[in-house]
Amino acid sequence: MSKHLFPTYKRWDLTFDSAHGSEITTTDGRKFIDFMAGIGTVNMGHNHPEIVEAVEKQLHRGWHGSNFFQYDQQEQVATLLADVSGLDRVFFANSGTEANEAAIKLARKATGREEIVSFTQSFHGRTYGSMAATGQAKIHEGYAPLPAGFTYVPYNDPEQAEKEITSDTAAVIVETIQGEGGVVPGEQAFLDKVNEVANARGALFIIDEVQTGIGRTGEPFSYQKYGLRPDIVTVAKGLGNGFPVAAMMGREDLQTYFGPGSHGTTLGGNPLAMAAVHATLEILNTPGLLDAVENKSKRVFHTLRNLCDDSDIVTEVRGAGLMIGIVCEQPVAPILTKMQEKGVVALPAGEKVIRLLPPLTISEERLAQGLDIVTEAIKETGKTKA
Ligand SMILES: *Cc1c(COP(=O)(O)O)cnc(C)c1O
Repeated sequence: MSKHLFPTYKRWDLTFDSAHGSEITTTDGRKFIDFMAGIGTVNMGHNHPEIVEAVEKQLHRGWHGSNFFQYDQQEQVATLLADVSGLDRVFFANSGTEANEAAIKLARKATGREEIVSFTQSFHGRTYGSMAATGQAKIHEGYAPLPAGFTYVPYNDPEQAEKEITSDTAAVIVETIQGEGGVVPGEQAFLDKVNEVANARGALFIIDEVQTGIGRTGEPFSYQKYGLRPDIVTVAKGLGNGFPVAAMMGREDLQTYFGPGSHGTTLGGNPLAMAAVHATLEILNTPGLLDAVENKSKRVFHTLRNLCDDSDIVTEVRGAGLMIGIVCEQPVAPILTKMQEKGVVALPAGEKVIRLLPPLTISEERLAQGLDIVTEAIKETGKTKA
């Protein structure tokens, strides 16, 4: 296979050529229905004309001046984000892991405390701080020593969270729906308890919306659906519709702890990235877009729950909006292969969960076609013998 790339990714036998809307074309001319949206990034569909136009415009005006300059583009995007989230300060980075690094650093600095609490089966990124916050041993393997001060608490266990979040805790970081961990929705009572205990003990409440944000669950950010009140929110994947960009949003008063020289990243928030984000957020704010996501979501869950009743493989269908986990009794890799043969690309989340993350803008017709293929692939694969 590849001669010069590090083999960090287990690649398929498909070579990306181009993509449009909810369709991906490979170099051999095959077309696939996109049920993964670039791992939940291309929420508005590939080559969305307004985003292409915005980036193209900036492409010819200069890509990067550095953060020594004031950038109107950053101010405008930060205003849009603040209007949606109610969090008044924004720091721009280039990836989800970096947004979480910023959040962890800010939390320690602001509280003067060291301990970061996160949850088992969470995923927060691959750099040292975010990796340490990630509650999965397989992600840590071979990389010791990890930074100190990280504690993992079982997800969806409010009693345990109440015990482990203390007056030594700088911050709690949580996903409202664990993405990589298997599309596991947080229970309302659990997330409420974490929010409440963090507030009561003076720990910052960080919500990682890297995968759940930008309309994925039917609200701009999923914490809004739960009615949570985070101090810090991180967002990346869908923020630039596939353009590498991320943001950490925080409460106004936290700005005192992130003064000049305290944190930074060279390319963070450059005008090219901001053009992509600006256009993406305007589309997100389009009236009716999120209602359409909810309607498609209803259709998906209805179809898949029927399948769940029929199938001896599928045990549960869970998630929210267009972030869907089909939980199976057996490893899902053969089902995903069959889906590919039939023209749908999607991802697993863990060994036994099929994860569907179609573009939010997918047409009803294409969504139905894709769901037919998913159903067929599950039925045809059949039960594997233990
Ligand atoms: C993907 C993901 C990250 C990491 O984002 P990168 O851009 O890959 O660094 C962090 N948190 C969550 C919840 C994610 O899904």
